[in-house]
Amino acid sequence: MKVTVLGSGTSHGVPMIGCAVCTSPDPRNRRLRPSILVTGDDGANVLVDTPPEMRIAFLENHVRRLDAILYTHSHADHIFGLDDVRTFNYRTGIAMPVYAEPGVLDDLRRIYAYIFQPTQVGGGKPQVDLREIGPGEPLTLHGLDILPLRVCHGRLPILAYKFGPRFAYVTDVSVIPPETWPHLEGLDVLMLDAVRRDPHETHFHLDAALETIALLQPKRTLLTHLSHDYDYAQTNAELPPGVELAYDGQALEL
Ligand SMILES: [Zn+2]
Ligand SMILES: [Zn+2]
Repeated sequence: MKVTVLGSGTSHGVPMIGCAVCTSPDPRNRRLRPSILVTGDDGANVLVDTPPEMRIAFLENHVRRLDAILYTHSHADHIFGLDDVRTFNYRTGIAMPVYAEPGVLDDLRRIYAYIFQPTQVGGGKPQVDLREIGPGEPLTLHGLDILPLRVCHGRLPILAYKFGPRFAYVTDVSVIPPETWPHLEGLDVLMLDAVRRDPHETHFHLDAALETIALLQPKRTLLTHLSHDYDYAQTNAELPPGVELAYDGQALEL
């Protein structure tokens, strides 16, 4: 299994005039909105979320195949690239399997109403095949064992995902409920939200993420959904052993 970080950024991290991080020559300080691509041993690609820059991330990472999409939740920074799946539809002729909780699927039907309304044939609409999933209900896609897990994004219940026994992607989280903890303990790699240095209502800030990491004890943690608070090299030098910032284009073999 391979994990590629397509985006490690947040919406409030858009380039800011005069910000040293945003104008840094280090490409690891350039952050698209958050998503990851998980590649199975047969080359199948499962994407978590479709952020606004999904197309750019696919071009930069030479992604030529997409087999399924999993959604964490329906905020704009996680869904607004969905229309671009039409590229894969053209190539395969297959409607893209899209997995999410029922409320997120309802949001997709509403926000992307044109996809689901019958219209003139031709003109090119994305073809998606919506499928319900829920926390604690495992699924297997192309040999990848996937466990959706409940986490809370402020008051909003959303999904994190565990892939196999050793890796989990936990973005947009401010509370990990008790039933989810055992599934996140002792991982080889944890990707975890750490939106900024100051406390935040709906995300872990850096200290909250570090407290959680100390309890979960993964071998390695990549922090994601990052604002321009963080210069890559400077921040990594401050972080405890085994904890680092993720960066766009980073690839991990698991
Ligand atoms: Zn969100
Ligand atoms: Zn987000």
